[in-house]
Amino acid sequence: MCKHSLFFLERVTIMVETTNIRELKGIGDKAQQLFNKLNIHTVGDLIRYYPRGYDVYENPVPISEVEEGAVVTVSGVIFGRVQVTGTKNMQITTLHVKDLTGTLRVVWFRMPFLRNTLAGGGAITLRGRISRRKNGIVMEHPEVFYPAHRYEEKLNTLQPVYGLTAGLTNNAVVKSIRQALDGFELSKEKLPEQIRLKYGLAEYNFALKGIHFPEDKEVFYHARKRLVFEEFLNFILSLRKLKDSNEKFQNEYVIPVHPKVEEFIKNLPYKLTNAQQKVWNEIAANMKSDTVMSRLVQGDVGSGKTIVAILALMNAALNGYQAAMMAPTEVLARQHYENITKLFEEYNIPIKVVLLTGSMSMKEKRRVYDRIECGLAKIIIGTHALIQDRVNYDNLALVVTDEQHRFGVKQRETFALKGGVPHVLVMSATPIPRTLAIILYGDLDISVIDELPSNRLPIKNCVVDTGYRQTAYNFMKKQIADGRQCYVICPMVEESETLEAENVIDYAKDLQEEMGDSIVVEFLHGKMKQAQKDIIMDRFSKNEIQILVSTTVIEVGIDVPNSTVMLIENAERFGLAQLHQLRGRVGRGKHQSYCIFMTASKAKETKERLDILNKSNDGFKISSEDLRLRGPGDLFGIRQSGLMNFRLGDVYQDASILQMANEAADEFLKNPEWLENLPENERTTSVII
Ligand code: ADP
Ligand code: MG
Repeated sequence: MCKHSLFFLERVTIMVETTNIRELKGIGDKAQQLFNKLNIHTVGDLIRYYPRGYDVYENPVPISEVEEGAVVTVSGVIFGRVQVTGTKNMQITTLHVKDLTGTLRVVWFRMPFLRNTLAGGGAITLRGRISRRKNGIVMEHPEVFYPAHRYEEKLNTLQPVYGLTAGLTNNAVVKSIRQALDGFELSKEKLPEQIRLKYGLAEYNFALKGIHFPEDKEVFYHARKRLVFEEFLNFILSLRKLKDSNEKFQNEYVIPVHPKVEEFIKNLPYKLTNAQQKVWNEIAANMKSDTVMSRLVQGDVGSGKTIVAILALMNAALNGYQAAMMAPTEVLARQHYENITKLFEEYNIPIKVVLLTGSMSMKEKRRVYDRIECGLAKIIIGTHALIQDRVNYDNLALVVTDEQHRFGVKQRETFALKGGVPHVLVMSATPIPRTLAIILYGDLDISVIDELPSNRLPIKNCVVDTGYRQTAYNFMKKQIADGRQCYVICPMVEESETLEAENVIDYAKDLQEEMGDSIVVEFLHGKMKQAQKDIIMDRFSKNEIQILVSTTVIEVGIDVPNSTVMLIENAERFGLAQLHQLRGRVGRGKHQSYCIFMTASKAKETKERLDILNKSNDGFKISSEDLRLRGPGDLFGIRQSGLMNFRLGDVYQDASILQMANEAADEFLKNPEWLENLPENERTTSVII
């Protein structure tokens, strides 16, 4: 009997990591598919799907005091009838709510059933963002508390907000996570006691609960610190491993500088800056030395990293080897491909260049695979598709990754394994102080391009409110009349990518009307098909489009030197480091460029924060200033750097935790037995069901 029950217990103790989310109550076929879309397959994935922010439910404000751009709660009575208008695909429900100070128009998209729900009238509380539409201020798509007293339950709490996908509600995610956290046995602590004490780190289970459902800001702070620490620690430990393995490798591809490269440099339409020349020398020396190259090239946006990468690619190819360059997006990969092909044509360089991206048809891909395998293709440009199993290189001697911060350590590793040990060159536009760079790129040597081409004029910036919009449009018209081009970054829509897309389309339509027939306005957003995006980018780079209205998909690496105006709507909603990257899309040619940060917020602090961008060009300085201004009390800050795609950690914001984790990594390596508990994918939280 006793034996039997023991056996039984073992059977029902299931590892969190391998438990399918289907085991949770309320998750059926459909929900499972939706979760899978978010890359959540197991209960383990689910509990590590951290909120992307928190809603703080504050006291309602008087209607007369609502401000454009802000998320607020108002409480009043339903005034008049609830109306549904619009097209079948886009029904708009409109309501007016009135309090002692005024009346506010409220709209919802695609929720016609609200007309019935709210037909009874009476008191209602609404929480949503205030926007300006053609006929005045509205609250858009708010959360409804009806009857009004429902709001009291939420007042002053922190509610997790998760990244969602169409069909999956925040509430469904909350319920599943709550169930998972309550249903699971306490998991084993993975960090040794002495490390937790030394660095003041909360216990693991406390941290997990605290990150999803913090009782207050204090709990949140400790939970987050613990999880960020562990994330950094794992990362640093794998870097150390990578460094060890790098150091073991002899250089199998000793590549001297080919005379044609020297000639090419001489013939370029511009002279390399001293910094570019210095970095190229470092790369060239490295490629012909005894050890294989693992090098990071750092240079601010517009410093001219691409040409340096091209020199390295070209040199490998001219010496008879293959060289690959991987970009984070298809748009960028294509841009590099076209750039290089054009250059090689112009300078008569007989190197076969191919493009390989995920959106190509199978047939096209197969043709490219063949050319790579037989060695015909010498330079291969692409996206992640370059590291798929299907690709067999003939003699790959060099791999360049552009805007590397989008790639993880694992991907770099895979690439290095793809065919002998190639030289690796990593390009990054994120300026970070040397102390941090040494930790984050612990496995790499570092070269810095610390100088901009001399033909550059510094970008002129201004921070303005929405009243300036017309002036900005007129200014754009003038620039376009002079032959230049412009970008407009559209307001962000946090609720969903679909709404964001609609927003961009609407904006572009209005702007087209404003600009008249002689100016072509087009748009770009994340939901478009790759082929469509390519066409738009291509036409923009040929100046067939003068104004490109876009979401932040435009952020990384796009290079159209003829663009001189960047207008950013709702600038207050972006992290300053991200704004700095966006601004880097202009000021890349010989013409004076302008960046207009438009903000709907009248708050003095917003202006002050955005003004930092006027004063500095150093990404790190910009965001530490940002943090200082907002103060450490602002725990729910926007992600600052976007660097390296950590789940929670932010390299800038959590620089001090990064230093701690780095120190701790040394201790772990001295005590290898500690490592046994650590690997993230071997977590053994168990569950009794
Ligand atoms: P990033 O470092 O941001 O990747 P790019 O390599 O895209 O910058 O270079 C930006 C622009 O500057 C490109 O149009 C490029 O042709 C040009 N460029 C690069 N080096 C120089 C130079 N030494 N002098 C003038 N223009 C240059
Ligand atoms: Mg670049």
